[in-house]
Amino acid sequence: MSKIKMEKIKKIALVAHDNRKQDLLEWVNENIEKLKTHKLFGTGSTSKLIKKETGIEVKSYKSGPLGGDQQIGSKISEGKIDFMIFFWDPLTSQPHDPDVKALLRIAVLYDIPVAMNRATADFLFYSEFIDKEYTRKIINYEDRYQQKLDKY
Ligand code: PGA
Repeated sequence: MSKIKMEKIKKIALVAHDNRKQDLLEWVNENIEKLKTHKLFGTGSTSKLIKKETGIEVKSYKSGPLGGDQQIGSKISEGKIDFMIFFWDPLTSQPHDPDVKALLRIAVLYDIPVAMNRATADFLFYSEFIDKEYTRKIINYEDRYQQKLDKY
């Protein structure tokens, strides 16, 4: 296992598909004071909407269909994003579905908390760990692969 320490101030990605953007915006408004104490990131249109409607600071990446999901995934792999609220649309397929799947896979791989609906976002956000340091334990896949390679 390798360990990654999450600081008290979390680096939170906010992402929502078009049909879920209003839900995310409502959730952000309900939790704005708490969100302000963390660092926020988001895909292009989601971050733009949140900034415009709430005035809070959100670092923007590209729009999801233009590579934004992949950018967020890459930041997760570098330890630069450690928490994600991703309201994806369960009723509409997206042109970038493979990117969405890749992002969710990377989030599981790096053991970051992910909320995909409001109830989970509420439960995660009111967890005692939200304002504390927390150490994630990542399975050491490189060692596993090396052991596999050593067999041949
Ligand atoms: P958007 O991307 O914020 O640019 O709409 C979200 C997504 O589709 O993943």
